[in-house]
Amino acid sequence: MNNKIKIPIAKPYLDDSDKKIISSVLDSDFLSGGPYLKKFEEKFAEFIKTPFSCAVSSGTAGLHLAVKALGIGPGDEVITSPFSFIASSNCILYEKAKPIFVDIDEDTFNINPEKIEMAITEKTKAILVPHIFGQAAEMDKIMSIAQKHRLMVIEDACESLGALYRKIPVGSFGNVGVFAFYPNKQMTTGEGGMVVTNSQKVDRLCKSLRNQGRSKGDKWLESKILGYNYRLDEMSAALGISQLKKLNWMIKERRKIANLYNKELSVAKGIKIPHIALNRTHTWFVYVIKIFNGKRDLIMKRLSAKGVQTRNYLPVIHLQPFMQKMFGYKHGSFPIAEKISRETLALPMFIGLQKEAIKYICDEIKKN
Ligand SMILES: *Cc1c(COP(=O)(O)O)cnc(C)c1O
Repeated sequence: MNNKIKIPIAKPYLDDSDKKIISSVLDSDFLSGGPYLKKFEEKFAEFIKTPFSCAVSSGTAGLHLAVKALGIGPGDEVITSPFSFIASSNCILYEKAKPIFVDIDEDTFNINPEKIEMAITEKTKAILVPHIFGQAAEMDKIMSIAQKHRLMVIEDACESLGALYRKIPVGSFGNVGVFAFYPNKQMTTGEGGMVVTNSQKVDRLCKSLRNQGRSKGDKWLESKILGYNYRLDEMSAALGISQLKKLNWMIKERRKIANLYNKELSVAKGIKIPHIALNRTHTWFVYVIKIFNGKRDLIMKRLSAKGVQTRNYLPVIHLQPFMQKMFGYKHGSFPIAEKISRETLALPMFIGLQKEAIKYICDEIKKN
C-alpha cells in the first residue's frame, strides 16, 4: 500500500462530549480506579442486560480472563471458529488449553453449529463463539448443544457490540461475554475491553485477576492468586461512558452506510453483499462483501490505487505460521473458512463516510 490513503477503512467517532469528559478526569486526582470506572461498568452491564461487568485493558485481556476464570487449563479442549481475529484462539493457548476448530457457515461466516457435536470429546470444556463482523452466531443451537454436553460458553462479542439475537444482546447468552473498544470497533475507549457475566463468582475472580490477584477486602498488596495488570485507566473509562451514551445512534449511522453500500452493490456482477440471517440484527463492525471469480486481490489493489483502504478480513487462524507449526494444520483443513477467506473484502465503514465516497468506491468495484 504505497498510495496515499484518501478513504481509510475505519475511523473512531469522537465529539465534544468525549473531549470534555476526558479533560474532567485530567482535572481530578483519579487517573486509575476512580469513579468513572465503576460507572462505565454499571452502564455497560445495563446496556447488555447482564448483572456483572468488569472493565479491562483490551478485548484480548478480557478473553484471557474469561478462559482463566472458567477454570480452563492444560489438557482441556475449547471448540471455536478458525474464521476470527487471532485473539479468540490465542486466549485459549495462554492457558495451555487446545483450540479445536469447527468450520463456518458460508453466509454469516460464523461457526456452523451443525459441525460442533462431531468435534466434542471427553476433553472438551467449552465452546468459544466469535460473533463475526457485527452479527450473532446461531445461539439457540449453540446453547442447546452446550447444555446437552454440559459445556461452558464464552462469547467473543468484540466485533458485535449491540447486535441482537432474538432481541437478546450478544454477550449475555454464555457463561461469559467479552467486548473490545479498540478505535475501529463500534465504540472506543482507545484500548479497552469488558467482561460480562451472570455469575458473581466469575466477576469477582476477573476483578481480582485484572488487579494482580488482589481482591476487595484483602490487605493492601496481598495477592491470593496469580494475577495480571489488565486494568482500564480512568481516561479510557470516562471515554467509554460518553461513547456508550451515543452507541445506539452510532449503530444507526453505521446501518445507514451499510444500506447505501447494499443499494450500490446488490446487483453488481460477481459480488455478494452481506447476508443477515433470521432473528438477528447487524451492527456493522465492518461491511464485508464476497467477490467471486478470483478477483478479490485485484479489486483490492485497484481500490488502493484510488486511495481507498480495504482489508482482506479475515485470514484463517489455523493457517497462521505459528498455529501450523504447533498443530500441523494444512490447507484444506477447514475448506469453507478458507474459501470465504479468499473471497471476502472489508470496505471502509465509519461515521462520516459520505454518500459520494461510497459511490466512488462502488463504481471502482463494479468495473470488476
Ligand atoms: C477486536 C477483537 C478482539 C479484541 O481485540 P483487542 O485489540 O485486544 O481489544 C477479540 N476478538 C475479535 C474477534 C476481535 O475482532
